[in-house]
Amino acid sequence: MDGEQERGLSRAEPATYEDCRRCGAFCVSTFHVCPPRHVVWCPEAGETEEDGQSFRAHSARAAAERWAEWSDRHSADYGIVRGASVIVHVRQDGCEEMESFTVTGEMVPCYTAHPSEP
Ligand SMILES: [Zn+2]
Repeated sequence: MDGEQERGLSRAEPATYEDCRRCGAFCVSTFHVCPPRHVVWCPEAGETEEDGQSFRAHSARAAAERWAEWSDRHSADYGIVRGASVIVHVRQDGCEEMESFTVTGEMVPCYTAHPSEP
């Protein structure tokens, strides 16, 4: 048995990358395990866990960061990326422990080059 066969790859069926339909990860589906679901809510906005948004993430911290990105885009005012700090609570599905994070953001310069005539 060679290395490829040990990892589950078959020469007849090359590994293919695709978007996971559940979590959106770009992955080799035969090896992919979706990260656990977390619920994130913002108590200072009057939210309870029942009002929370669900994100698949590898950690509670990553879920809080995904919430911040979602919240800024959803509200369309981008308050977090413009300097606001927000406290959120995060609970992983099936876990008793709730974690709390202060999320902040920053604007990052982005440069783009397009082909032009010499
Ligand atoms: Zn997935």
